[in-house]
Amino acid sequence: AAVGLLAVGLSACGRQTDDASSGSKAANVKGTIGVAMPTKTSERWIKDGDYIKQQLEAAGYKVNLQYANDDIPTQVTQVNDMVTKQNQVLVVASIDGTALKGALKEAKDAGIPVIAYDRLLRDTDAVDYYTTFDNLKVGKLQAESLLAGLEASGAPKPWNVELFAGSPDDNNATFFFNGAMQVLQPKIDAGDIKIASGETNFKTVATLRWDAAVAKKRMENVLTKSYSKADVNGVLSPYDGLSRGIIAALKGSGYGSGGKKLPVVTGQDAELESVKSILAGEQYSTVFKNTRDLAQATVTMITEIAGKKTVTVNDTESYDNGVKKVPTQLLDPVAADKSNVKDILLKAKYYTEADLK
Ligand code: BGC
Repeated sequence: AAVGLLAVGLSACGRQTDDASSGSKAANVKGTIGVAMPTKTSERWIKDGDYIKQQLEAAGYKVNLQYANDDIPTQVTQVNDMVTKQNQVLVVASIDGTALKGALKEAKDAGIPVIAYDRLLRDTDAVDYYTTFDNLKVGKLQAESLLAGLEASGAPKPWNVELFAGSPDDNNATFFFNGAMQVLQPKIDAGDIKIASGETNFKTVATLRWDAAVAKKRMENVLTKSYSKADVNGVLSPYDGLSRGIIAALKGSGYGSGGKKLPVVTGQDAELESVKSILAGEQYSTVFKNTRDLAQATVTMITEIAGKKTVTVNDTESYDNGVKKVPTQLLDPVAADKSNVKDILLKAKYYTEADLK
């Protein structure tokens, strides 16, 4: 439900549709929407881009969809180009949340509305709206599922757990980690969880660019340094790609064979390879965020902006970008493990039976 309704060029009488006499000639014009995505190395962003494109085209817009290869200068160039081409609205999933300030200022000066997509755009007033999933809840779900998995594993307490976080320049990474620590810190304080590496600081456990190879390397180092005698029972991983890197490191040091159980490893995004890994009993869980719904929420916003209607948001407090609180439409993430992942994903038509074979 909408708790905050923000008027965008809405006349005082609350008229919801545009007509020629309203004097706003941009209203209901269906031009080109610029969509800037970070990378194709992760499945989710490919799906995000595809869904936005399909849905915008179905609504009568043209789409300028760009991927930046996880390279910041490339993304800056792409966003600048969208402004030069006078794209009607910009939808931006940033690589580095602060690096686009300059390009976004150009957009603002040109009167182009900007929607931060999934990742908050920071340190700028040139962002109008934000569509995302409840990122703090994602972290909480990951930690809760880690605890459930540890409980079910029958491993005696204290459980040996290691922590991983996402890219430090992605605002979401802090939210995921903080959400998880709200659940895990009391367990650490109570002595139920032990972090043998001693590495609990966000900056220390962060993984630049969400790079699986970086997470794999860190897991290998931690295993060498801190687990020559004890076994690791659980790993908090914020994203499926990292989870797979972490699991590869664990297997490399003998986990998952010869009676040495793989630890409980969490994840996020319900990437196909990780869903298969969950079904095979390796990765423990993921957090499903239906990117089709996020695309839908974003397209709805664009339609409202273009139609000079009231833009619907449901959170005006949670996302302060350092300059302003950005009005946000928050969607609900869903935890999934072996017991329910197939059901959830088939029901959402995210994958087919055949995909999951
Ligand atoms: C997204 C996650 C994703 C991660 C890595 C985050 O900003 O919210 O869904 O796992 O980036 O791509």
